[in-house]
Amino acid sequence: MNNINISKIATLPTIYGTFKIQAFKEGEKEHLAIFTDELSETPIVRVHSECLTGDALGSLKCDCGEQLHAALELIAKEGGMLIYHRQEGRNIGLLNKVNAYALQDTGYDTVAANHQLGFKADERTYEVVEFILKHFDLKKIKLLTNNPAKIESLPDIEIVERIPIQMTPNPYNENYLKVKKDQLGHLL
Ligand SMILES: [Zn+2]
Repeated sequence: MNNINISKIATLPTIYGTFKIQAFKEGEKEHLAIFTDELSETPIVRVHSECLTGDALGSLKCDCGEQLHAALELIAKEGGMLIYHRQEGRNIGLLNKVNAYALQDTGYDTVAANHQLGFKADERTYEVVEFILKHFDLKKIKLLTNNPAKIESLPDIEIVERIPIQMTPNPYNENYLKVKKDQLGHLL
């Protein structure tokens, strides 16, 4: 990937601790790396897919917001990096995600709703994630994820350990989490 614009590194104090941030602009999409001063040989890395409704609005339809906060908390404590991957709605975009939510209101599950709109269950790609990890010279990582497919999606990176990130279901996301487990292969 040679069309990526990379920002300078800035300091970002947060409620979890103080991080460094750096932005990576890939066409229209602007991704972020949020990381601690100290990065070990095999740091903890979370690849967090943007979910505006979960991350910023406190949506209970998914577990994204809770996962984001848990990941930042852990990384602030143990050291590591969170890559904020701007592929909203498993990369169908916000407008399509809201349309999928409208279908879900009529009884479709998260996967069936995507199919109804003409998308795969998951449209994400991870080239830019590998680009960012390589930019930081991170060849071996401990990946914070419940999604084994994410391990395969980073073929150039050695995942020395998978650290699960488990959240307590609520009445609104119980079914979503069940579909993630049964149909998308998440280890929950
Ligand atoms: Zn979400």
